[in-house]
Amino acid sequence: MHVGDVQVGGDAPVVVQTMTNTDTADARATLEQTARLAEEGAEIVRVAVPDKAAAAALPEIVRGTPVPLIADIHFDYKLALASIKAGIHGLRLNPGNIRDADKVREVVRAARERGIPIRIGVNEGSLPPIPPLADGEMPPPKPQRMVDAALWEIGILEEMGFEDIKISLKAFDVPTMVTAYREIARRVPYPLHLGVTEAGTPGAGSVRSAVGIGLLLAEGIGDTIRVSLAADPVEELPVAWNILSSLNIRQRGATIVACPTCGRIEVDLIPLANQVEAHFQKLGKPITVAVMGCVVNGPGESRDADIGLAAGKGKGAIFRKGEVVRIVPEEQFLSALIEEGRQVIAEKFGEAPPAPKAEELDAIIPMTAVDSAATRPGQGLPGRAARR
Ligand code: SF4
Repeated sequence: MHVGDVQVGGDAPVVVQTMTNTDTADARATLEQTARLAEEGAEIVRVAVPDKAAAAALPEIVRGTPVPLIADIHFDYKLALASIKAGIHGLRLNPGNIRDADKVREVVRAARERGIPIRIGVNEGSLPPIPPLADGEMPPPKPQRMVDAALWEIGILEEMGFEDIKISLKAFDVPTMVTAYREIARRVPYPLHLGVTEAGTPGAGSVRSAVGIGLLLAEGIGDTIRVSLAADPVEELPVAWNILSSLNIRQRGATIVACPTCGRIEVDLIPLANQVEAHFQKLGKPITVAVMGCVVNGPGESRDADIGLAAGKGKGAIFRKGEVVRIVPEEQFLSALIEEGRQVIAEKFGEAPPAPKAEELDAIIPMTAVDSAATRPGQGLPGRAARR
């Protein structure tokens, strides 16, 4: 299937999605955020369409978006019809709260006319009511209820011969969502959109998402993913991409190997690792760069890295594929890695990125710092080098 020009399912690579959190009625703010999300690696973006004002802004948003858009619809099928009319590239319908089969059919007819796929987006928090139970009968377990909700709507769509379908069965509880996805993957052939819903704040939510999504991807289940965090949606994208690269499914930008530091460390390594990550991620080339805290174990422990630094007291070794190529003083750690990285990129991809000027080097600040205030050069907690 295709959402706009992005293929989902079949032989296509696993697609990364996210969702805007602007007021969709504010087309400019939504477009600005969509552009930022696309720049950071979102390949499809979903926008909430909670009311007529949001639907009215869609034509302008659709005209300006750099990536295909999905309209997220709950309760009101008319908003789905308005979104289709506005030229949206895909729909997400919640079978838990649009329960009238005739209304679903009306949406399906309109989607088919425009060649728009529909995601049946089940969420554990908004499941259809449980039908009356016989005496002593237990309600079905939650994963089963989620699968049943999806199958109900799949049935309506299939009866109409509509198979441009993808499915999601999101839950906060990882075992619940994993069980539900495994079951639906066994039952139907449609692409699956994976996610752990309301996964939490960036720290805990990233781990929860990685476990849930990663478990399924490792089993070959899943065609598109969304990491949901209580944060700026831009923060979801490196997490999603890291899940994919951790499983060697896809890589976007550089992979940074960094040692956790230990009692052997003699330099302030963590800010440096964050600076290296910020720089190489921006270049967008899939090379592996290691930032290691000592010469004893550094090169050996990151032998697969294209380039690396094994930092020692006052000086460090730059290495390639585990072989030391030169020794540099501490103040040149970052610039030497950047220079070596330019050469590797030139060798691998035919063209070196421009050499950064001195002031640009100074301006490289950590992108994914645990706490940016604590890791910005010159502002962080004194590292061992600074305390010496
Ligand atoms: Fe410790 Fe060296 Fe390993 Fe870093 S590379 S964790 S400093 S032994």
